Amino acid sequence: MKILKIDHLGIAVNSIEEGQRFWQDVLGLNFEGTETVAEQKVTTAFFPVGESEVELLMSTAPDGPVAKYIEKKGAGIQHVAFRVDNIEAALEELKAKGIQLIDQTPRKGAGGAKIAFLHPKATNGVLVELCER
Ligand code: ZN
Repeated sequence: MKILKIDHLGIAVNSIEEGQRFWQDVLGLNFEGTETVAEQKVTTAFFPVGESEVELLMSTAPDGPVAKYIEKKGAGIQHVAFRVDNIEAALEELKAKGIQLIDQTPRKGAGGAKIAFLHPKATNGVLVELCER
């Protein structure tokens, strides 16, 4: 498995507008618009930062994973995403190492990326996303 870089930090917000007031208005990051991923019940907004990005995540439904996360832990950093060169190979390698996965196979994320989450139980509490673009 080859980790290429930190692709983005996923941050759970109650509203994208509220998030924009800090990330865009205060820090001056470039807002590149929103995208809704219906199957994840989430609207995302990306703000490039050098080689990486900040990804704001707003739930589109009360039973979505981001809504549940905020209910349990409050708004804030939700996951860290690493870009890999080959996500299928990375998942096979992790399975062989006995790492518990949320996604056994990649699914479609924002921006047409292939993504997969590792279970926080296997990572000392950090929700880790792998992504390939
Ligand atoms: Zn993400």
